[in-house]
This record gives sequence, C-alpha cells and structure tokens, in this order.
Amino acid sequence: MSAICKGARLTPRLLKLTPAANGAGQTRNLNLLEYQSKGLLQDYGVTVQKFRMATNQEEAASIPGEFPCAEYVIKAQVLAGGRGKGHFDNGFKGGVHLTKDPSKVPGLCTSMIGHRLITKQTPPAGIPVSKVMVAEAIDITRETYFCILLDREYNGPVIVASPDGGVDIEEVAEKTPERIMKIPVDIKIGVTDEMATQVAEFLGFKGELVPQCAQQIKNLYKVFLDVDCVQLEINPLAETPQGMVYTADAKLGFDDNASFRQRSIFDMEDTTESEPREVEAAKHNLNYVQMDGNIGCLVNGAGLAMATMDIIKLYGGEPANFLDVGGNVQEEQVKEAFRIITEDDKVKAILVNVFGGIVNCATIANGIVNACKSIDLKVPLVVRLEGTNVDAAKKILAESDVKIASASDLDDAARKAVGMLA
Ligand code: GDP
Ligand code: MG
Repeated sequence: MSAICKGARLTPRLLKLTPAANGAGQTRNLNLLEYQSKGLLQDYGVTVQKFRMATNQEEAASIPGEFPCAEYVIKAQVLAGGRGKGHFDNGFKGGVHLTKDPSKVPGLCTSMIGHRLITKQTPPAGIPVSKVMVAEAIDITRETYFCILLDREYNGPVIVASPDGGVDIEEVAEKTPERIMKIPVDIKIGVTDEMATQVAEFLGFKGELVPQCAQQIKNLYKVFLDVDCVQLEINPLAETPQGMVYTADAKLGFDDNASFRQRSIFDMEDTTESEPREVEAAKHNLNYVQMDGNIGCLVNGAGLAMATMDIIKLYGGEPANFLDVGGNVQEEQVKEAFRIITEDDKVKAILVNVFGGIVNCATIANGIVNACKSIDLKVPLVVRLEGTNVDAAKKILAESDVKIASASDLDDAARKAVGMLA
C-alpha cells in the first residue's frame, strides 16, 4: 500500500507507535510541501531560512538578483523525503543542492523543474517536480531529529526525538534505539518548560542553545496543536556555528477530520503531483488509490478492500485500484465511483464486493444500476453483495437490464472476475 503512505518520511510501526491516523487505513491525510509547512511554521516563531520559490526558468533566473545570499540551497518540492540522496529521471543527481555561485542557481532549478524525482520514499517512477525552493543556506554543525505524532497508544501527542538527525530515522530506530526518545505529552498540560528542556538536552544542545531549542520545541508544539496536525516532523533540526537552532526541513501532516476548521490550510493542498483520479475521487469523499492492474474494485471498508485485492492476486489477477466507498455511501457516490473506475482504460473487469453492515446493499445496487445506465459499460461486472438488505439489492439488480455476474462469496467473485479478463 505504498501509494497510500506517499509522503510519509517516518514509519511509525518501526518506532513501535500506533498513530491515530498514519495514512494506512481509511484516512488520507493532507500533507503540505516543505515550503508551505515552513510558511506556516514561521508564523509561530519557528526559525526557518528565508526562501523564494521558482516554478519556471524565468522565475529561477530572477531569484539571485532579487535575493542575494552568501550560499543557496536549492530544494525540489515533493511530498517525499530522502530528496538529498535522490535522483531525477533526466539523470540529474540530488533533489537538494548547495551553491555559493549565484549564476548556478537558475540552472540547478531548471534541472529539477519538470522532471521526476526518484527517492527511497517515492514510487519507482518518481514524482514530478513543479516547484523548487531556493533558500538561504545555513552552515550546519549538527543535525538532530524532532517529531510530534498523534499516537493512539498514548492517546495523544508523543514527541519523538533523536540527536542523530539528517539521516533515516527508521535506521536509527532499528540500530540504535537508545538514541531515540519518546515522550507522551499530556494534551491538557502541553509541553512544559521542563519537558522542552529535557528534549533539548537529549538532542545534544548545550549552554545557550538549550533554552533556544526548548523555545523552538514549544513553538513547534503550538503549531501541532493549533492546526490539527497528526504529524510534524523536523529532520534536520539543525545547529549552526553562529549558535542558532534551525528547522531546516519540515513535513506537516494534518487530520482530515479537522478540514472544516482548517480551511485555509486544506485549501493549500497541491494536487499537481497526485493521480487525477485520486483527486477526483476525493472530491466525492471516496477513498481511491490508483494501482497497476486491470480489475477495478469497488468495496466498502478498508479491510475488505485490502482482502479483496489480496484474493484477486491469489487467483492470478491484479487490482487496478483500491476503492473504499466507506460506510455512509450514497447512490450518487456509487455512480461516481463507477465512472472513475471505468475511465481507467486498463480496467478489463469490475468487481463489486460489499458487505452491508452500515451500508445498505440496496443503495449500492441502485447506484450500480444508475451508473450502468449513464455509462456504457463495456467490461464485465461481477457483484458480490452480502448483509443488510441484500435480498432487496439482488431484486434491484435482477430486475434491471444490467448484465451482471453474481457471486456467492469473495472467492467466487475473485475467481469470476479473473476468469472474465479478455
Ligand atoms: P531530504 O533529503 O528530503 O530530507 O531534504 P533535507 O531538506 O532534509 O536536506 C537533506 C540534507 O541536505 C540535510 O540533512 C542537510 O544535511 C543538507 N542541507 C539541507 N539544507 C541545508 C543547508 O541550508 N545548509 C547545509 N549546509 N546543508 C543543508
Ligand atoms: Mg530531511
């Protein structure tokens, strides 16, 4: 399910955390790009570097003139970590570059813009880069790791910190777990001075830098709380020789359930790197992830969706998508789901697998019939319905003139769908 976890730099499982919303279930959380995250952090007194953005050659060319810096850091903006060690589909190496030569800035930007960046955290084909950040580079003497996660096990936020930052935190968790500190934060009390100081000291800050880092930690916690984050990851939280603590890289993830009160943040969502079908599905409150196979799936519940994909594979097929219509699904959404699935040319058969609990099977059946009336369905359709109101649903399907292969159970459904592939 790598596509669902797109953008996650940290695997909470490896840290033995169970976040409330880590993107591996029904929720699809909003993640912001680094420049957007930093813009937000700045408003809360978090120390970040000054930066400009470039989306094309002209913008890139004008930056050095209007934004003089002793050294620049040029960074591809994608929702994935490991950019520094990544490479582009045009052969260009590294999604993070340092240069002291202003004349090199435009060229570095255009080597990235319009090309796909491949990192350890992107799909193998990479992610297209449409924006590049040009920031004032800082000298870094030490890189630390700081993160706040909303964690189910602790019933609230937990701070994860390590003096070994700038590297893959999962590796640190595996090889030197004693170098990682986890502290739950009591949501009613928040981050106290003592706690912030304790974390700053564990991160290895000394002297004057301890109170400065502690203040940064408190500011970061305030952001986390105020904007309904589920994840706020700073890697690196860097120390400079001038005695400053900088948030040099930031990734913020937000709780989708808070979208109604964080409108301005959710409006920032950049969908240019997303699958258009996924964006379209999200508009209809459908949880859709594009995959590479040829059997389109319409399922209710993330667990059943995963089981359906597994069983399709067991019978030698490949799912074309993950589509969970959820529990509250209405006829109109079923119709939209069908439209989205059928617009994928690779789909050669459709498998509907619904276990009606909260979902009323008759709603699904009506949705299917209406969808088939408005779409000229050219591929075979296998339907397995079970549970609430299933008899009424079967009647609706039987009385319609939609050509459907009924299936008695999940095995039967998967076998039939695979068997129908042209
Ligand atoms: P990531 O690879 O996607 O995590 O991107 P980062 O923004 O974390 O950059 C990768 C690495 O580049 C960091 O861990 C730093 O070592 C280095 N780096 C990033 N920004 C700067 C900077 O302003 N100055 C210096 N000296 N190094 C930087
Ligand atoms: Mg980083």
